[in-house]
Parts: sequence; structure tokens; C-alpha cells
Amino acid sequence: MTHKAAYVKAQGQTRKHHCHWPGCDQQVPPAMWGCRPHWFAIPKPLRDAIWRTYKPGQEVNGTPSQAYIEAARAVQEWIAEQPKKPESPQLF
Ligand SMILES: [Zn+2]
Repeated sequence: MTHKAAYVKAQGQTRKHHCHWPGCDQQVPPAMWGCRPHWFAIPKPLRDAIWRTYKPGQEVNGTPSQAYIEAARAVQEWIAEQPKKPESPQLF
């Protein structure tokens, strides 16, 4: 496991922080983007971009890099393009 992966895994629910998937209020540690099902619903290249630009500690001091902000925005844009499924989405 990489140092970064070990760091993220070791982080707990230090404060209220929910999954970044729109409408999901699942609580996840601030070091994580979102809950497992939603994280893995994102295409791998986008997940890789988040992972690559994430710097351990940014969730503590609130200063993500510009690259991370752009990666996170790309994820939100991808989600917005997905067809809406009013029935329970088959993500779980
Ligand atoms: Zn979620």
C-alpha cells in the first residue's frame, strides 16, 4: 500500500463530511471523496485524477491544489451528464 493510501485509510470521521455525490448524505471521513459505491461509480480516469492530485492533509487545512479542484469539478461534470434515474439507482 502506498503512503497516501495508508494515510487515507487511517483517517477517521474527524468532522461532519458527506459524500460528494449530489444528494448523497452518507458520512465519510474528510480524507475521502465519497462513499464506496459512489466512488467506484466514477470512471477510473476521473478517480485516478482525484487520487493523483489529492495531497494528504488538504482536507485538514482546507487548501486543495488547483489541480485537485479541477479534478473534482470534472467528476461533478461527469455526474451531471449521467441520466437521472428516479428509481433507486443500481449502484449498491
Ligand atoms: Zn455517496
